[in-house]
Amino acid sequence: MLEKIEGIVIKTQDYGETHKIVTIFSKKIGKFAAIAKGAKKPKSRMAAVTQPFIYGEFLVYVHSGLSTIQQGEIIYSLRPIREDIIKTAYAAYILELTDKLIDEKSPDRFIYDQLLLTMDWIAENVSYDIPVMMYEMKLFQKGGFAPIVHHCVNCGSTEKPFSFSVAEGGLLCKRCMHLDQLAFSISDLLARLLHLFASVGLERIGTITMKDENIAKLRQILDAYYDHYGGYYIKSKKFLNQLDKLK
Ligand SMILES: [Zn+2]
Repeated sequence: MLEKIEGIVIKTQDYGETHKIVTIFSKKIGKFAAIAKGAKKPKSRMAAVTQPFIYGEFLVYVHSGLSTIQQGEIIYSLRPIREDIIKTAYAAYILELTDKLIDEKSPDRFIYDQLLLTMDWIAENVSYDIPVMMYEMKLFQKGGFAPIVHHCVNCGSTEKPFSFSVAEGGLLCKRCMHLDQLAFSISDLLARLLHLFASVGLERIGTITMKDENIAKLRQILDAYYDHYGGYYIKSKKFLNQLDKLK
């Protein structure tokens, strides 16, 4: 069946001499893979629209296995991301994470919207650590392994202060902190931010400014958490970590 499908290209692979296999995360049918015939030829009309990060509208023959892209039109190329190596690294990371944690052909309008908002934010803004972490938290929820951040994971208390325990899977209140000697001690502000990341979509955020040390701490917590529960190795994360060390 030929369908008009709006989506974002999250992965491409060469297929033979001239074709590409393109993975698209779409609004209508979720994630799917499709062959783009001739897309490797530089003069092909398909070449531009089947690059990673392209947000476009595609005419697709949808099959139960590999679909076929018949035509495509760029809605937004996210060019500012392409032109900046750091933005590219962040965008590549969230797309790879999305690819790993989202099942094929299982549409999720919320995650789709959050991904587009996050990509757009990366393209248009100087600082994007917070939107990226907010999106990661949404993906952790989608993957079914998100931390408990609205109360103590052990006793349910909402009384401050909290620490964050990777092993216990979320916040621990003062009475329960002894359960994990390795828990991160966090300020009330950071506990509130973790809750915000888990419960609010990016569309509700205007601007957030945060001290670098707070961003670094939240980054460290989410990384430790993903390493423990995420299950998939994320190649592009290695490059991001190298960039971080250069900062
Ligand atoms: Zn407790």
